[in-house]
Amino acid sequence: MNKIEHIGIAVKNLEDSNKLFTSLFGKLPYKTEEVASEGVTTSFFKSGPNKIELLQATDSNSPIAKFIDKKGEGIHHIAFAVTDIQSEITRLKKEGFIVLNETPKKGADNKLVAFLHPKATNGVLIELCQEIE
Ligand code: ZN
Repeated sequence: MNKIEHIGIAVKNLEDSNKLFTSLFGKLPYKTEEVASEGVTTSFFKSGPNKIELLQATDSNSPIAKFIDKKGEGIHHIAFAVTDIQSEITRLKKEGFIVLNETPKKGADNKLVAFLHPKATNGVLIELCQEIE
C-alpha cells in the first residue's frame, strides 16, 4: 500500500460545501463527477500534494445518505493508492480484512477502487485505489 491518495468527506449539500472548501483552500475544485453506481456526486480539491474528495448522496439509498443519517457529516473514508489492486485485495483478505467488493469497480477520478469494511479496521472505512492507465 502506498501514500494516502485522498480523504473522503460526506456532505449534505455539495454546492454549499464546494463554497466552503473553495474558501478554505483558496481555489476551486478541479473536478466534479457523478458516480451513478455509488449514488454520489463528488468533487475534488487539491491542496499541495493532498487531495480531498467531497461526497454528496444523489438518493436516499446511497451509502453516503446512510452514513450521514447515522453519523452526520464528516470524514467518510481514507483512500490509499495501490499499484496492483487485485493483489492487494488477495493479500488483505488473507490478513483477515473484509473486502466489500472483491472485484475492483470503477470509482471517481479515473480509479479502480475497492473498500475494506470498517468493522475490521478500527471503524475506518478504507478505500484502495489504483489509477486506470
Ligand atoms: Zn474516495
